[in-house]
Amino acid sequence: MQGAGPRRGADRNVVREVNRSLVLAALRAGGRISRAGISRVTRLAKPTVSAIVDELIADDLVREVGRGAAAVGGGRPPILLEFNATSHLVVGAHIGARRTTVAVSDADGLELGRREFDTPAGEPGAVLREVATQATLVVGSAVPDGRTAAVGVVLPGLTDFHSGVCLLAPNLGWRDVPVGETLTALLDVPVYLHNAGQAAAVAEHLEGVGGQVGDLALLYVGTGLSAAVLCAGQVLYGTGGTAGEIGHCRVPGSTVPCNCGNIGCLETVASGPALVRFAREAIAAGRSSVLDDGFGVPDVADAARCGDAVASEAVAELGRNLGLAASWVINAYNPAMLVLGGGLAAISDLLLPHLRATATQWALGPARRAVQIRASTLGRDAEVRGAVLLALQHSATYDRVVFRS
Ligand SMILES: [Zn+2]
Repeated sequence: MQGAGPRRGADRNVVREVNRSLVLAALRAGGRISRAGISRVTRLAKPTVSAIVDELIADDLVREVGRGAAAVGGGRPPILLEFNATSHLVVGAHIGARRTTVAVSDADGLELGRREFDTPAGEPGAVLREVATQATLVVGSAVPDGRTAAVGVVLPGLTDFHSGVCLLAPNLGWRDVPVGETLTALLDVPVYLHNAGQAAAVAEHLEGVGGQVGDLALLYVGTGLSAAVLCAGQVLYGTGGTAGEIGHCRVPGSTVPCNCGNIGCLETVASGPALVRFAREAIAAGRSSVLDDGFGVPDVADAARCGDAVASEAVAELGRNLGLAASWVINAYNPAMLVLGGGLAAISDLLLPHLRATATQWALGPARRAVQIRASTLGRDAEVRGAVLLALQHSATYDRVVFRS
């Protein structure tokens, strides 16, 4: 038979943590509230609430802000409390192939400042040291002596959230980089690593086109392609962190080399480089076009808008291939919303009609009827906002556990 003593001790700790999080949630719901008000909202006994509030005040998470209106019956007005949002800062960093953005927000997600700089060339350690330096600077200028509770880092590539390791990021030239461990050593705070698609999905869900619909999938399309899947608002990671990496699924018939080392991956026909290649192949085959040498995605999009047939057909082909990818995601995960995100969301007006038509053709009826297909509304802000929001999401657990000390 199991000993009762330790078990009961563990239960007591769990109850204390749950009660503390209930009180914090009541305080964070907004507005000023008295101890008696918290007791009513949480249905916790007044002495329990008072003891927890004392702890939270000692931790600087809560402060007293004067007295409220007199109680009914003429009693002494209660002392009001509010959540101290700046006691608990979170930093989000989006490391891009060319530019890096570091932003700081308070515990309610309100952005207090950001810095943008060229991603340093060279080995990953140099990039991470610069991110740490800029994070310290942005926190210091937003809230002098501010306490950072968590850092969210996002980058384009394969990431393992559980170990904090960037497995592969061809655009950065990174493989097996211990991002979490390195930044934790530099900044002495918990670091949460995600890929850029996961961050964009969370940001669109909470602040963008998602409208807080819980089951959302995002096709992250730029130099490559991945899908990020949210179940009830939470990122689906998979056992090694690479869930949703559909860009590296084999497409029968394609023989184009992929930067993962395989050939014929989906992203070789459904990405920015694929769009440029479609147009280049048509021109090489003798088709006439306004497109000249050395064109990129924006040039193809401009030409398509001007009615250039080669550019229009290239856009349509990319849109159809993305629609096929969307149908797989819709069938596999049955999301309420599928969002087109990443750099190519900038030309969503051209891509969505083709994407929608193909996804509608190939997705299963019930899944197809349940899903809305939309474009990102956050644009280039999605990744860094996602980094902040993910750090905040993870630190909701963190402030219960760590700020107790
Ligand atoms: Zn691949």
